[in-house]
Amino acid sequence: MSARILDGLKIRDLVFEELKVQARELAATGVRPGLAALLVGENPASQLYVKSKIAACEQLGLASWMHTPPASVSTEQLLQLVRNLNADYEVDGILVQLPLPAQVDAKRILEAIDPPKDVDGLHPVSLGRLVSNRPGFVACTPAGCMEILRRYQIALEGANAVVLGRSDIVGKPMALLLMHANATVTICHSKTRDLPEVVRRADIVVAAMGKAGYVQPDWIRPGATVIDVGTNKVTDPTEAARLLRNFPERLEKFRAKGNVLLGDVHPDARQIAGALTPVPGGVGPMTITMLMSNTVKAARLRRLADTAVAGQ
Ligand code: NAP
Repeated sequence: MSARILDGLKIRDLVFEELKVQARELAATGVRPGLAALLVGENPASQLYVKSKIAACEQLGLASWMHTPPASVSTEQLLQLVRNLNADYEVDGILVQLPLPAQVDAKRILEAIDPPKDVDGLHPVSLGRLVSNRPGFVACTPAGCMEILRRYQIALEGANAVVLGRSDIVGKPMALLLMHANATVTICHSKTRDLPEVVRRADIVVAAMGKAGYVQPDWIRPGATVIDVGTNKVTDPTEAARLLRNFPERLEKFRAKGNVLLGDVHPDARQIAGALTPVPGGVGPMTITMLMSNTVKAARLRRLADTAVAGQ
């Protein structure tokens, strides 16, 4: 039987409708949430991501600003830019598009963001809040995975969840979120012994490794929920033919286009899993969605709190 598809595009549309309502409510109090994006240099992938984020702001009626310092920018110059954005009342969220050039101290830049404006959830204060299960901003991709699980009513309490990957932006926060939702969480990484056996015990598998089709169908417990965070552009025809052996239409498209986007989980897992996020169209659209959600939340928390104080 084929897995139920956990449709990220559908969830995005639902969340966007809710955010539009919230943005209108804020507008009625004179508040227009705004996101400032910092895009350093001319990395085409980063340019594309930031463009999509700005487009999402426009779609929701949020204000947005894009700052584009050159790739040669220094840490000091970027710190000054972040300080200016911290001081700008109209800016609710600050997004620093990663990766930053090698000469820039990325950690210092992220730590310079005022925590109430940390809509990417990467500041140590945000991470500390997440660890101790206090309200705060959560990194957008794992927050998006949780939103999918929540909206599709996947039961987490008591479930065995296995997270593949332990990065600061996906694996670690994802594991914490699942633990706070009362799942029993195992975190795997490149040194984990007998990965297939660990994955076989999982009711919920979150794959965030960056390795196309690495998780084999027979590692997936029948009926398990699979959240595939991996976004891998495959260009090798042999690899594409191996991974898409049961998807002739996609293979045909690959042949015409020369590349295909695949997750970390082998596409054949669709026949084993109970529910699964497709790639593309699963977790991908949720990252920007949660960035928008965090920006609206940042505006509400910071500016409505100010209004309340002013009105006292
Ligand atoms: P990352 O920083 O490279 O981390 C990869 C993690 O996977 C590491 O913890 C690594 O272990 C682990 N890993 C690598 N090979 C492994 C193996 N053979 N067995 C077990 N674990 C292994 O990557 P990331 O930034 O977290 O991103 C992961 C994937 O998600 C990428 O495909 C990325 O493109 C995608 N992504 C998608 C979105 C989205 O919006 N959909 C957003 C962010 C990321 P070690 O720690 O031991 O090295």
